[in-house]
Amino acid sequence: MKTNKYLKTFFTCATLLILISGCATVPPASTIPAYSINGLTYYPLISLCELRGVDMQYDTLISTAYLNKDAKRLNLRAGDTLVLVNDSPMHLSSPIDIYQGTIVVPRQFKEQVFDILFPQSVSTYRQPIRGKVKLSKVVIDAGHGGNDPGAIGKNGLREKDVNLDIARKLSDLLRAEGVRTVLTRSNDRFIPLSTRVSIANKSGADLFVSIHSNANRSRSLCGFEVYYVAPSVSDSKRAYMTAKSSSLNLKNAVITNSSQDLQAIIWDMIYTNSRAESIELAHSLCKVMDSSVDANILGIKGARFQVLKGVRTPGVLIEVGFVSNLNEEKLLRTSAYRQKLAEGILEGLRNYSQNMALVEVSAR
Ligand SMILES: [Zn+2]
Repeated sequence: MKTNKYLKTFFTCATLLILISGCATVPPASTIPAYSINGLTYYPLISLCELRGVDMQYDTLISTAYLNKDAKRLNLRAGDTLVLVNDSPMHLSSPIDIYQGTIVVPRQFKEQVFDILFPQSVSTYRQPIRGKVKLSKVVIDAGHGGNDPGAIGKNGLREKDVNLDIARKLSDLLRAEGVRTVLTRSNDRFIPLSTRVSIANKSGADLFVSIHSNANRSRSLCGFEVYYVAPSVSDSKRAYMTAKSSSLNLKNAVITNSSQDLQAIIWDMIYTNSRAESIELAHSLCKVMDSSVDANILGIKGARFQVLKGVRTPGVLIEVGFVSNLNEEKLLRTSAYRQKLAEGILEGLRNYSQNMALVEVSAR
């Protein structure tokens, strides 16, 4: 098979999250976009500031940003590892950078400097409005199974078991709300990809949600991410050119034990015409996860492969966490955390379904 070609396409398409996040057709995300630059996670500074209500002044001449809120000050300059926290110097292990004309900051800066100086106040947390889940049927696909364990953690946690349990829990939650569910597998058995796709297509469901757990050679990598339907070929080409001309390196996004399987699912799952809904759903899921589950949100990624026959409904593939990360492996092993993840996904689906319902009404 043309694995390399697909892999290349995957690299290319993963970069699309960056292009997409600024695209006018996508509703504004309350989730901060995350970029992978030279293997490190970066966030746009402006998005962090907007989220926490921090005032930001930017001096383009000296590429320096001045942040301030409640008499707390933070100064930083593109290209520098030195930042000034209330006028005291602090060193970062990776520099502040500029990507697509905007200042981006490494995760270390977000977690160890920004979040501490400008914590999320109780009043900025908005409890999602709980209404009905406006979906009639959802296909839940637990990745792997049977003789295909998926990724395996250092302490032996098998991806297939995590996926199945979360899929079942999500199904129970949806059914309790009157939503019909179809599970591509409800026990530990191997289901070929083509069968998963045909189950989804025959079901006449509103949504296809595939649940996976991640793995990476870097054991430090952790977090929650969502893949959605990717844009058209022309967009992919443009993204590829952009990626080639930038220093962007998305190796983290693909070096997973299960990347083969992931690609297969994605390229069979996807149809361009359900892309917008899938992006909307992906945003909704990340937004809820960011506020309800104490997980690192790696963000939303688009992917497009040579689609032959795929699932004809909006679909997302959720990577709930990394079994390769010792801490997340420990968490994912517990029923309580898996329940929390299932509940988070349910809330994401709820918000998505309500937003889509609003769009339908206003379009008339
Ligand atoms: Zn998987």
